[in-house]
Amino acid sequence: MTVVTLDEVENRLRPLAEASARAHWQMAGAATDAHRAVAAEKEIALEAALSDPALVTPAPGEGPFDARRAELLRLWVAPRQRPAQLAEQIIRLETELAGRFSAHRAVVGDREVDDNELDRMLLRSTDEAERRGAWRASRAVGGAVADELRELVALRNTSAERLGERDHYALSLRYDELDEAWLYGLLDRLDAGLAPAWTAERGAIDGDLRARLGLPPGTRIEAWHATDAYFQDAPPPVDDPLLDAAGEIDPVAACRAYFADLGHDVDAILERSDLQPRPLKDQHAFQTTIVRNADVRILCNLAPTLRWLETLLHELGHAIYDAAVDPSLPWLLRTNAHTFATEAIAMVHGRRGRDAAFLTRYAGVPAAIAEHPANAASLRRELLVFTQWVQVMARFERGLYADPGQDLDALWWSLVERYQGLPRPADAPAGAWAAKIHLTVAPVYYHNYLLGQILASQLDATIGCGAELTERFLWPGASLRWDALIERATGEPLTTDAFVADMAMRA
Ligand SMILES: [Zn+2]
Repeated sequence: MTVVTLDEVENRLRPLAEASARAHWQMAGAATDAHRAVAAEKEIALEAALSDPALVTPAPGEGPFDARRAELLRLWVAPRQRPAQLAEQIIRLETELAGRFSAHRAVVGDREVDDNELDRMLLRSTDEAERRGAWRASRAVGGAVADELRELVALRNTSAERLGERDHYALSLRYDELDEAWLYGLLDRLDAGLAPAWTAERGAIDGDLRARLGLPPGTRIEAWHATDAYFQDAPPPVDDPLLDAAGEIDPVAACRAYFADLGHDVDAILERSDLQPRPLKDQHAFQTTIVRNADVRILCNLAPTLRWLETLLHELGHAIYDAAVDPSLPWLLRTNAHTFATEAIAMVHGRRGRDAAFLTRYAGVPAAIAEHPANAASLRRELLVFTQWVQVMARFERGLYADPGQDLDALWWSLVERYQGLPRPADAPAGAWAAKIHLTVAPVYYHNYLLGQILASQLDATIGCGAELTERFLWPGASLRWDALIERATGEPLTTDAFVADMAMRA
């Protein structure tokens, strides 16, 4: 086997990674057959390069960062040592399903509606039948992808088993430098520790939902009463003035001014980004880096809502991280330190959507609305609701990979009932779980959102979101492992203290 140097590896992978990212960007913009085919082709080319066994053990370099560089390379390529045919089968199925999600539009009654319209119905409608229709429609794509998603899960498992792993779930955590026992210990501790706070908050949420929907006291809260399709967001209080005021905000101008004051010029990022909804376009939101340090983009589907203001802040948070990494680092290290590290930065900024100072200074919201107690109370509620939701997603996905042949509807609803307190609807669409796009396009990812929230609280409580954060946390890129970076930047290892304190906060 020829020995390759780290520089040679970077020169080989970089153009392939950039071409793949560019093709996926084009597919997200318009899920045509042609774009889908190119995206699959570019990803297959990258995967082929990554499966070269010579990359697992490159020539040891002597640069100051070369040990970490070689380790990151190993984590990237070792799980990709698999037959080309298997890799290709997985990628083709992934891109096929991703394209199907992008092109899918829900139908409520006899009307085709986009996700923004579904969101509006679930947030605003007081018509029980319409809510129920919108909720069912939001899950309909699940039935259309569930069988093939099971197939995809089995293929991912085959690939993992060939590498000696229990399944794809175990493999993914290992190569993401996360210990499964540690992660589930954390989830269990949060579950036990937050139980009293969750029970109390859930009671308050139910009261708010009944008041909002005009339901008699004691009415059982069902999945379609929540203000989003998965009960992953905190239902806003009944008298929340920001919901209407958010419609008056220019989110792009507000974010531009906000990030500029923190020392991040987002003009170039916004210039390359795709912000407005269109047919065939991916209805979700994401950030992508096509050329490290140089071409960083976000995709959104902006509507005049608080949710999209928060999402724009979130995605730009990811973007400024990638743009702020030390440009002199070698390519392999010129990226974020971990998926949950970039989620944390996105969440630090996403939380500004309810922050009185942000709302008055950058978004032009009148002080009486910006300082309304609903905003201060929302973080606590948001974090509790979201934590329960991650418990569902993380545990479901672990179960999905442990046994993709099991009754997944039963598994899904038992977890929703246990952690979110929502009963399984008698007429729940089959395969409703598969509507959650992450299971297809971002497998074994969801725990990163919770770790991101935990770290966001820690960063907020220690070094804030300004220059210190940039210098100590963003600038080093991936040159340090996540645990070392957190400890060096904040003075302590990753801890749930600040996160739990944020949830104990009373308005
Ligand atoms: Zn994110």
